[in-house]
Formats: sequence, structure tokens, C-alpha cells
Amino acid sequence: MSESERPLRPAILRGWRRQCPKCGAGPMLQGYLKVRDNCPVCHEELHHHRADDGPAYFTILIVGHLLAPVMLTAFTIYRPDPLVLGTCLAVGAVAVSLYLLPRLKGALVALQWAKRMHGFGERA
Ligand SMILES: [Zn+2]
Repeated sequence: MSESERPLRPAILRGWRRQCPKCGAGPMLQGYLKVRDNCPVCHEELHHHRADDGPAYFTILIVGHLLAPVMLTAFTIYRPDPLVLGTCLAVGAVAVSLYLLPRLKGALVALQWAKRMHGFGERA
């Protein structure tokens, strides 16, 4: 691996853990979703990211594909009251979305960092 290449898999795993894709020690996010400008440990610039709507898109994609079969199975087997089923699925969808959104954002920012996208590859 040349010096200019950044390992993709460790970077994405660190991003999933919401840590700096370079050092894995510093927190990437400040608050729930805001990406820090720099890593507090290794001072790697993180403000180049352009995650935009990507994390939300992937969250909706995953949550939709998880809850659709759950809804079908639960309704087929248990025949619950639609209000009960809708309430349970809404709570489940919100909970899974809140879990996935910051992790997917971290992974997407780490992907952009590893692939040197959007200014991540420029020399200081
Ligand atoms: Zn760092």
C-alpha cells in the first residue's frame, strides 16, 4: 500500500464508532450529529466532509427494509389492532433511526476521508 492510500475498512469502522478516521482515538462528532472541524487528538481536519443527506438516505433505506418484513410478519401471525401495530412500529422506527443516523454519518465521513474526497486529500 502506498503512502497516499488510506485503509478504507479501519477508517469506516472508526467512523461507525463515531471516532476520528485517522487516529481512532478522538471523537468525530460534537453533540449528536455535528462533525468537529478538527480531531481533538491528532488534529486531522474533518471539516472537508460533505455528508449532506447521505446518512439520512441510508438510515431510511435500512429502517424501511427492516420494518417492512416485521410489519408483515407481525400482522400475519398476531393480527394486532392496527393502532397498536402502528404505535409499536413507529417507536421502533424512531429508535433504530436514532441509533443508525450518527453511526452512518461517521462511516460516510470516514469513507470520504479514506478516498480523499472533497478536500480531504489536499496537503496543508
Ligand atoms: Zn484523530
